[in-house]
Amino acid sequence: MHKNAKTIICSVVTTCIMLTSQLGAEAYGVAESGYIDEAIGVTETADENICRHRFGSWHFVKKPTCTKDGAKTRSCAICGEVESVKLNRLGHKFATKQVQPDFLHNGYSKHTCMRCGYVYKDTYVDKNILRAPKDLGYASQVNSVKLSWSKVLYADGYRVYMYSGGKWRKVATVKSGSSYKIAGLKPGKYKFRVGAYVRQSGKVVSGKNASCTAVTKPKSVKLISADAKKSTATVSWKAEDCSGYEVYIRHGANWKRVKTLAKGSKYKITGLKKATSYKVKVRAFFTDSDGVRQYGEFSRTLNFKTKK
Ligand SMILES: [Zn+2]
Ligand SMILES: [Zn+2]
Repeated sequence: MHKNAKTIICSVVTTCIMLTSQLGAEAYGVAESGYIDEAIGVTETADENICRHRFGSWHFVKKPTCTKDGAKTRSCAICGEVESVKLNRLGHKFATKQVQPDFLHNGYSKHTCMRCGYVYKDTYVDKNILRAPKDLGYASQVNSVKLSWSKVLYADGYRVYMYSGGKWRKVATVKSGSSYKIAGLKPGKYKFRVGAYVRQSGKVVSGKNASCTAVTKPKSVKLISADAKKSTATVSWKAEDCSGYEVYIRHGANWKRVKTLAKGSKYKITGLKKATSYKVKVRAFFTDSDGVRQYGEFSRTLNFKTKK
């Protein structure tokens, strides 16, 4: 303590300005007007070299950001002493938005800092998928197959493919409805695929395919002859493209199937009564991959009579 100094000393306050008249110390260069802070602490004696600081306003040296600390300073107008304060980083302030998935992109929660724009994503949801058409089935005629299926959610249309010549070829794009008839086929067995598609952002996104093997109906069988003996008759016909044949005979009121053959163009019916009139007819069929038979029309009916 120095007894010859009668000094008012600032406490640490923001705007400590002292009147020069109180100071009696022009040497400090204090402005003539100003404010006296109420929080001034007074001591009776102090070193005349102790500055009764007169701080200016705060200046950011570095503004705090979301992720980095900042600092501010102010300096004494009298002695130039600098006071510095650290400012803690602010931390992000997120707004969250749910982004829905589509056919090209996953969905997610998007968190955006409203202060600095930093973005992060989480809670991902798988992108939408176009499912394979369900219940792909068909109805057939001799030269055509009509495919039909259940509609697929979101689908803009369907593509129909047929396997031929060793590869899958697109035979149709179906934009409305959920069926398509492939005409002009030779009687036979065919493999098909049907898949939905959806247009999005200028792209076409394809769904999974459903597949099936479909068969046409075979042509009507052309019977050639029925060569009867005493208890047998050999019936012959023109071979067709098919999976097999069914042979029917009639004696009396009802037709009765006597044989199913896988291949061939004739069949010997046995166990017939002698000297009896019979009718015979034959039809061909294709068997599809589910074991379902698609039958062609029956042949004409041939009459024959067994020998005595
Ligand atoms: Zn000072
Ligand atoms: Zn931020």
